[in-house]
Amino acid sequence: MRALVVITALLLLIAGSNGYGQYRMPGDDIRETVSRFGQAEVVVSYPGFDAMTKIASRFSVSSCDAREAILCLSGRDVDEFIALGIPYKPVIPEERKGFYTASSLSEAMLWQSYPTWQHYDTIMHKIAERWPGVCRLDTIGFSVMGRAVLALKISDNVAVDEPEPSVMLSSTIHGDEPAGFVLLMRLAEYLASGSTGGGLAEELVSGLEIWINPLANPDGMYRDNDTMIYPVRANSNGYDLNRNFPDPEVSSPPLQKETSDMIAFLEEKRFALSVNLHSGVEVVNYPWDKWTRLHPDDDWFDGISRRYADTVHLHAEPGYMVYLDNGVTRGWEWYIVRGGRQDFVTWGLGGREVTIEIDDTKMTPGSNLEMIWNWNYRSLLRYIAEALNGVRGTVADDDTGDPLSAKVFISGHDADSSHVYSDTVTGTYCRFLAPGEWTITFSSPGYLPLSFQASITAWNSVVQQDVRLQKPAYNYPAPPGSGLLIWPNPCDGKFSVMLPARITGDVTVTLTGVSGAIISSYSTSAQAGIPLTCDFSTLPPGIYIVSVRGEPFGPLLRGKVIITRPFPE
Ligand SMILES: [Zn+2]
Repeated sequence: MRALVVITALLLLIAGSNGYGQYRMPGDDIRETVSRFGQAEVVVSYPGFDAMTKIASRFSVSSCDAREAILCLSGRDVDEFIALGIPYKPVIPEERKGFYTASSLSEAMLWQSYPTWQHYDTIMHKIAERWPGVCRLDTIGFSVMGRAVLALKISDNVAVDEPEPSVMLSSTIHGDEPAGFVLLMRLAEYLASGSTGGGLAEELVSGLEIWINPLANPDGMYRDNDTMIYPVRANSNGYDLNRNFPDPEVSSPPLQKETSDMIAFLEEKRFALSVNLHSGVEVVNYPWDKWTRLHPDDDWFDGISRRYADTVHLHAEPGYMVYLDNGVTRGWEWYIVRGGRQDFVTWGLGGREVTIEIDDTKMTPGSNLEMIWNWNYRSLLRYIAEALNGVRGTVADDDTGDPLSAKVFISGHDADSSHVYSDTVTGTYCRFLAPGEWTITFSSPGYLPLSFQASITAWNSVVQQDVRLQKPAYNYPAPPGSGLLIWPNPCDGKFSVMLPARITGDVTVTLTGVSGAIISSYSTSAQAGIPLTCDFSTLPPGIYIVSVRGEPFGPLLRGKVIITRPFPE
């Protein structure tokens, strides 16, 4: 009882120190903020790594350091959070002065203000219409409230699925982190307009399939009448979509429409490289978010993240993107996230995704968007260009040349699903690796595995290696002149039967007991020199007669097979 009084007094004290003069029930301030703004942010003191992991498994942590963490609560989180009795300080919603919604489409396309939902939809169509040779508008899916989740494909021969590495840039899965949203529309325009300019944009558009999804959570951003006055982090059901992806060890919250549509899209496109843009801090965050261990390609992830931040540092004001290790962190070293898209793509789909936080301020004022663009666009182009590097080629059947889906695996290195697969339709594969000597093994069911040595000499090097896999050549015994050749014999029920070479075409295979009772009879086709394979491993031990009759007129050949079982120990 005493403890309760103390906690209540503490909560009142905290509430009082934040400008709330009158006595209130703990949590009333949170409820009021949620009903007015759609969500409430609260600051809690950092409770230690394990307790933080527990909190982050239930509530959305939007940032955290060794002193405190900011939680973002939607309507469905409030009661549970209040019931826990964790002391908190409410965060007063950010000032919206200087935060500016465009008054016209042409103003929105100056990229210094935020478009309305209608503007956004029109901008995406306009970009696709203006550069039809390299740009196509597609829909990933629809939000809970029925808004289209749009993506622009930017590539030469845009109507064709070319066997090129594909890259996806996506932003604003948290609806209240809008800077990346404008940045990516502008990047789409930059790439499309530069696609014949002879520079890096042309190189990227011709060598890659680039997909740009500026807004992954339209209902979060346009909660308020299609303008962005008070956007929220979660979708319209109150779920944080970047905590909603499947996890190998813990059950995720109910899969939201936006998430299942995105998963279907990601599974179809199988991006080699992708990025997820956010705001709230300034750091490049790479896998794992969920496991406190290194990704096998940690060196490579650190390399591409380092280059992003270092390129930013060349162009930005001092002090921008220097959080944690000078602008780079492994996710788990910051705080544990379950159900994030980055880990799902990297662990579940053989992709490589990082999360880039581009502004300390979640709601970047429109007047700062030009600056954020100037500080980041070279890094974004360079990040896309990473997909041109690595070991790449095609895998095909050695006899027919048909493309093969093969597992591309590095023994002694790959773990936690870090291997990749070649594409089922085109046979192309792409494996990003840090400089070094790598033995890469390709395997596919029904084929002999094949390994080769790839020497990566520099970060920006490409090793082109096409692979053809062979079916194993079996050494069967020569067909008998007469009768049946059965082996192994005795056997455990699985055995092979070689017929004389002259018996080909339709045959009936019959197994009978020594009494003559038929146990099994089936029709199949015989090829000269290829044995029939039989599996009667469910039969009890004993002596059985195998007979093979050529159809329709014979001959009929017989042989004996002995099925034994090891005695149980
Ligand atoms: Zn975010």
